[in-house]
Amino acid sequence: MQVIDRIEAFRKELDAARADGRTVGLVPTMGYLHEGHASLIRRSANECDVTAATVFVNPLQFGPGEDLAAYPRDLEGDVATAEAAGAAVVFAPAVQEMYPGDVLTSVHVAGVSEGMEGGSRPGHFDGVATVVAKLFAIAGPCRAYFGEKDFQQLAVIRRMASDLSFPVEIVGCPIVREPDGLAMSSRNVYLSPEERGAATVLHRALEAGATDLHHASAVMAAAVAAESLVHLDYAEVVETEHEYRLLIAARVGTTRLIDNLGVSK
Ligand code: AMP
Repeated sequence: MQVIDRIEAFRKELDAARADGRTVGLVPTMGYLHEGHASLIRRSANECDVTAATVFVNPLQFGPGEDLAAYPRDLEGDVATAEAAGAAVVFAPAVQEMYPGDVLTSVHVAGVSEGMEGGSRPGHFDGVATVVAKLFAIAGPCRAYFGEKDFQQLAVIRRMASDLSFPVEIVGCPIVREPDGLAMSSRNVYLSPEERGAATVLHRALEAGATDLHHASAVMAAAVAAESLVHLDYAEVVETEHEYRLLIAARVGTTRLIDNLGVSK
């Protein structure tokens, strides 16, 4: 497996694969890979000839006072995880390589980026959309795999790829959970043992909400209120054509966690 840190070398590698008639799968991540990320890489490796995972902690998507400096990093471990899951390439650029000067261009997706994460983290989705647009421009035609764990992010990226006509097929993948229901996240490493126990309330709240869809927000809020270590940010229900999607965000100590659950109609 190749580890590449330069944009031009990464672009060349994927161009060469396509020139040979091979399909490309892209899995963008911020690293500190866990089984959730690995599931995306495996899915891509099953469906595409060449899978490229990217590892980049994107400063544009962190607000002031968020955990950019503390965000966990382990490139060596990530390379091993990506390779075991079937990646052929890991692209891990430095910040200087991605943003060599002032960032004067930014992608804003209106509508779907408002409320929930967009409400709590102003500018976050502009940072996400900008870096993903850049990765799509570098990687070229491909399938790109994103987790439903970041459900609103998936909607923002689908809309961005469609509106800007990127030659990319967006593939959404199911949430991978710990055995006790906690959604896997690189940020779970921040949790103390007590917080780790309390954090399971997010999934429990979603399951409780799913049993009472008409009062789901209140049911989820009540479940979270019973855990003194957990502070609710939002608990919402979004209706789509085929399902209700319950979404929750909460702070456990200084760690902000999100989760969601779909209920078919
Ligand atoms: P991140 O490194 O947190 O930016 O995540 C990179 C990609 O992995 C995103 O598309 C996430 O939605 C996805 N992802 C993160 N955690 C999980 C999980 N527990 N299950 C499925 N996908 C995940």
